[in-house]
Amino acid sequence: MSSTTVSTTITDPPSGYPGEWEQDAVLRDGGTVRIRPIVPADAPALQALVHNMSTQSSYFRFFRVKRELAPEELKAFTEIDYRSDMAFIAIVDGELVGVGRYNSIDNDPASAEIAFTIADPSQGMGIGTLLVFRISAYARALGIERFQAYLLADNHAMMRVFRNAGFSLSREIDEGVYTVEIPTEESDAVLAAEGKAEQISTAASLLPLFYPQSIAVIGASRNKSSIGGRLFNNIINADFMGPVYPVNPKTSVVRSIPTYASVVDIPGKVDLAFIVVPAAHVLNVVRECADKGVRGLVVISAGFSEVGDAGAQAERELVEIVRNAGMRMVGPNCMGLLNTDPAINLDGQFGPIMPPKGNVAMSSQSGALGLAILDYATELGIGISTFVSVGNKADVSGNDLLLFWEEDPNTDVILLYLESFGNPRRFARIARRIGMKKPIIAVKSGRTAAGARAASSHTGSLASLDTAVDALFTQAGVIRVDTLEELFNVASLLSSQPLPRGRNVGVITNAGGPAILAVDALESQGLAVPKLSDELQAELRTFLSDEAAVTNPIDMIAAAGPAEYKKAIETMLAADEIDALIALYIPASDVGAPETATAIREAAEASDGRKTFLSVYMNSSGVPSELASTKAKFPAFPFPERAAMALRKAVEYSEWIDKPTGHQARFDDIDRTTAREVMDAACAEVDTQGVWLDPDAVDAILTAYGLEVPRTKVVHSVDAAIAFADEVGGPVVLKVISPSAVHKSDVGGVALDISGAVAVTEAYERVTSAVPDPEGVLAQEFVAGGHEVLIGMVEDPNFGPLIVFGLGGVFVELIGDVAFRILPITDLEAREMIGDVKSARLLEGYRGRDPGDIDAVIDALLRVSALIEDLPEVFEMDLNPVKVGTPGSGVRIVDARIKIRPVLGSWIPSRTDLPSML
Ligand code: ADP
Ligand code: MG
Repeated sequence: MSSTTVSTTITDPPSGYPGEWEQDAVLRDGGTVRIRPIVPADAPALQALVHNMSTQSSYFRFFRVKRELAPEELKAFTEIDYRSDMAFIAIVDGELVGVGRYNSIDNDPASAEIAFTIADPSQGMGIGTLLVFRISAYARALGIERFQAYLLADNHAMMRVFRNAGFSLSREIDEGVYTVEIPTEESDAVLAAEGKAEQISTAASLLPLFYPQSIAVIGASRNKSSIGGRLFNNIINADFMGPVYPVNPKTSVVRSIPTYASVVDIPGKVDLAFIVVPAAHVLNVVRECADKGVRGLVVISAGFSEVGDAGAQAERELVEIVRNAGMRMVGPNCMGLLNTDPAINLDGQFGPIMPPKGNVAMSSQSGALGLAILDYATELGIGISTFVSVGNKADVSGNDLLLFWEEDPNTDVILLYLESFGNPRRFARIARRIGMKKPIIAVKSGRTAAGARAASSHTGSLASLDTAVDALFTQAGVIRVDTLEELFNVASLLSSQPLPRGRNVGVITNAGGPAILAVDALESQGLAVPKLSDELQAELRTFLSDEAAVTNPIDMIAAAGPAEYKKAIETMLAADEIDALIALYIPASDVGAPETATAIREAAEASDGRKTFLSVYMNSSGVPSELASTKAKFPAFPFPERAAMALRKAVEYSEWIDKPTGHQARFDDIDRTTAREVMDAACAEVDTQGVWLDPDAVDAILTAYGLEVPRTKVVHSVDAAIAFADEVGGPVVLKVISPSAVHKSDVGGVALDISGAVAVTEAYERVTSAVPDPEGVLAQEFVAGGHEVLIGMVEDPNFGPLIVFGLGGVFVELIGDVAFRILPITDLEAREMIGDVKSARLLEGYRGRDPGDIDAVIDALLRVSALIEDLPEVFEMDLNPVKVGTPGSGVRIVDARIKIRPVLGSWIPSRTDLPSML
């Protein structure tokens, strides 16, 4: 029925329409579903949905069979206020296939009733689950804590949807009708379920790219040096398992295979199409692919968003066609992909090298570098499972690939070469989960280019992109390396060896000098080379000569040959006192060298494989073939420093896996209503540039989040200041309020520890005359003693909100001894942040100073995290200093600045719920 077509994008939205909640998601069959809030124009499509429902579905939804909605029902369902009533619809191929709605329950603002309708043919595809996630996220952001649903006892499908979504249900049955109560809270179970659903559908949608049954190469060329020629030849030469169809209207045969003028002329079905035609033809060719029913595209052609506005526009059109047709696309502007699985043998890239099969998956953002990477990997004998050059990432992103590799049995290690993050928050969430199962190693370019940005607060000037990348990787457990060489060094260790369970390393060598280098390198990487126990030394002595050193490093001296290496390796690998073993070998002459290398390999491979083993073969002609990692199941390095670096990364990763992640704190004493009111009022007067909140609003918001602020009052006269001091009863502080003074004390605008009318009068005059533009004076209770720390937040355009902690005061910018994390943080991360700051040891009590209330600092960090989650208008915040009293006495924020800017849209989603685009 053509009248039921609904549009995916809303160009002329009704008032209150929360456009930022529109979202695309991938379905299990690779198709794309758009989820968006309902609009009045959806009425005919909704009517059709109800009309076409099966008797049973209709009965489940309305408790009777209903074929048509009355006009007033239709109006009530589609004309909503997006607050007390809300509905999301799901659109597949321009057709409305599902609705999830809630209606507030009149006398209970924290509850709402929900109902779902899914078109019969679309049931079982995960659409109901997506709608549940979406509407509960929305409700949560509005402060709705629980849903009620009325379900007929035999509506098992809906019950399963709720359960699959991870919600803990409580239900009561009355006359065959269940009342199900569902908390909207984003519990760990809900997050896990959401992650699982996303993983399954994304991975399934990418299958046509990695496991196509048939391929078309559009732009296959007879010219062997052209890209279209090289790509086609690679596919053929690698013995792809299915048929390959060359498409080229200008020639009739490529490599003895007849061509087709267009993909639509191909008689068989086509799963995957490579597109190597000039940019101007790409859109047409992709439309033809959509008509043909192609499932996956690899667009090699360049000339899109990388070349400016016109290209970016063409890229948007490209994505639109791809999504509407339910295809997935790698590129454009990429060098292709490959899959070494012998079940498929897909060499779909135009470089000269097909690397050996192995367990390392890799994605590269740079095409040229991708070629170099394949070259190196092959040279170093690192086997590849799948490789993808992602290009402009217009559809398939690095995050999508991570989801594919998460459950890919052929992949044990994931390598990423990154230039930018599409959606860092999604990356953090996905990478953290995958990192628990397989290591992710990333080179992020641009480490040195990052400079501190000009900013108007301490926090702002401390943050730079690179700190954000580091924070992101640290939290997500991603192993960060600086160079491609390091990437491969770490990969060769992690792809072949078990993770070290500790930092104790044994070193075996046949020469003293290199052993010293190795020990230095290990120790500078924070690893230990412990003295061996007497028993172990005695055991080594039984077969080593008297001149040998057996304490660790074990120097078997130049005479050591295959037999000594073999026994020493076996003995050390069996010893509990070390976690990893490095065997160094310097061939003194050609005689016996291959035999020794073979002995090292055999001894290492004969062990039970529970200990991490590395070899270092120092010789200008490189690592001998006996130790090459294609043959040996352990890494071989030409220098001990590289082995030490790789081992340290492996140790850190192992420690990250063992470390508990902690929990995001949930506070039940936060007054969100007040905070929201204050923020809404402040936003009403704000332009898009953003402003600093006035002191009263800052006070109100901090207090609402349980962050303690000393008694404070804005005064405009000496008399008012004296009256405030009388009320307080103790010493006070006077600070000038002035738009020109960013740091008030720098210009003499702060008077501390003032008592008595005379002193207050004098201080008032002094601070107001320190600036040209005094707007009043902040009178505040004086907080004596204590440590001073800084808690700040700044929103990075790429990474979202970051939180920073450091010791307060003017030196913080100078020394840069601060810790950053991406928000939100867990309780353990808060504690760890404090541990990361060297000077924070002062809080433990140092040289006669009182210790500080560290638990209260952690509590404050978590409350700030909660505040930032709830109030996305905040984009910079500086609490400096926070005064920290002795343990048990808490913290007090004596100077706070909060910068806000209105958030797009009619009302504001909480940060975690901002739609994650694919
Ligand atoms: P600014 O950062 O603009 O210079 P602050 O309000 O942070 O101004 O004040 C400067 C310093 O004065 C603080 O770092 C702190 O040491 C001290 N101070 C400010 N307010 C108080 C207070 N209420 N009690 C005790 N000391 C304070
Ligand atoms: Mg300050």
